[in-house]
Amino acid sequence: MNAPTVGFVSLGCAKATVDSERILTQLKAEGYGFSANYEHADLVVVNTCGFIESAVDESLDVISQALGANGRVIVTGCLGVKADLLKKKFPNLLAITGPQDCDAVMAAVHAEAPPVHEPFYHLLPPGGVKLTPRHYAYLKIAEGCNHKCTFCIIPTMRGRLVSQAPSNVLGEAKNLVDAGVRELLVVSQDTSAYGVDRRGRADLTTGQALRPHITDLAQALGELGVWIRLHYVYPYPHVDELVELMTSDIILPYLDVPFQHASPRILRLMKRPASGEDNLARVRAWRERCPSLAIRSTFIVGFPGETDIDFQELLNFLRQAQLDRVGCFIYSPVTGARANDLPEPVDSGLAQARFDELMAVQAEISHTRLRQRVGREYKVLIDEVTEAGAVGRSASESPDVDGVIHLPGITEIQAGDFVKVKITACDTHDLTASLVEA
Ligand code: SF4
Repeated sequence: MNAPTVGFVSLGCAKATVDSERILTQLKAEGYGFSANYEHADLVVVNTCGFIESAVDESLDVISQALGANGRVIVTGCLGVKADLLKKKFPNLLAITGPQDCDAVMAAVHAEAPPVHEPFYHLLPPGGVKLTPRHYAYLKIAEGCNHKCTFCIIPTMRGRLVSQAPSNVLGEAKNLVDAGVRELLVVSQDTSAYGVDRRGRADLTTGQALRPHITDLAQALGELGVWIRLHYVYPYPHVDELVELMTSDIILPYLDVPFQHASPRILRLMKRPASGEDNLARVRAWRERCPSLAIRSTFIVGFPGETDIDFQELLNFLRQAQLDRVGCFIYSPVTGARANDLPEPVDSGLAQARFDELMAVQAEISHTRLRQRVGREYKVLIDEVTEAGAVGRSASESPDVDGVIHLPGITEIQAGDFVKVKITACDTHDLTASLVEA
């Protein structure tokens, strides 16, 4: 008897990708096959995103397509917490489970398409099933969030912060490195808050006392000898300790800090973590301590109550902070978010104009910063090699969200190789380089 096959669609952020990888690893461990299309699968699992309305719409579209093409669909992920909405719209779903609930997904799969083999774990690749290329992987160190940002419903969907034990994180990281991963992307909702829920209790599992704190965790990860890149770090004072690790080359000199705005009034309305910090002073101090530091951030324009003065404050911040990489979203209300009740919504045309202006300002900043890199040499991790050449990233670029470094005509290397390059040109977001040393 052939093993049942599962079609799988993974939507949403890097944290959701890690959830998908856990479910896929378990399915593979139990002998399930995977189908690249809906038609040939015994059933389809859709891991949804419910962060903003456009993500909800995309999730609903995918569920609808999967139901149309296959008919047997299990929904999991963030949108799963809106089971009533889903049941009303799609009464024929096989099952609906919430985020990070691998057990409930597996129970639903077992009920609908029982496995034909006993678990056969040695068939698994050592790092489990990954949705990323073999040379980099996301490492989720915590679930949930203790903050109450008014535009966000993640704490409602994913609960309060629950940090993984340091020994678990390190064990998973070692497995990934053993499986050939060269870069670990550390993710969670609030990476800088890692461990606060464990109240300082040392993890003694490995015989060595591991303090559940992001500085100690980053230091221990850095000892694995691969690139360690931190995402979703808030500007708390202890981030200075992380910058010290970057200065000492223990982790990559890269910080993804989602500032979201620069006007203190809007940050208070958003109820952002560390909103009382002087972010410009923090950025300057970090750069002084670690000149090679690359900073990525995201911002929201058109938040309720945002005035022209607030927006100009945001643009001034960008001009002064000279961040390396910036993403921007136009505010959109999310069902269940407290910001929906705030007065003075911003007209959608005005929000779009602010978005365009912010992106134009940042494009100039990005180009200026990239121009400063022309002529310099960098260690680069190769992501892809085609007939046209290779594409890679230095410590300053994270996969999928930042720009890349093109190496035209370089084909004698492989994805996952580290090479030394010299930057020869740039455009607004990407760089071009020549190979110095393979
Ligand atoms: S820090 Fe704010 S935006 Fe991020 S997950 Fe927590 S509540 Fe949401």
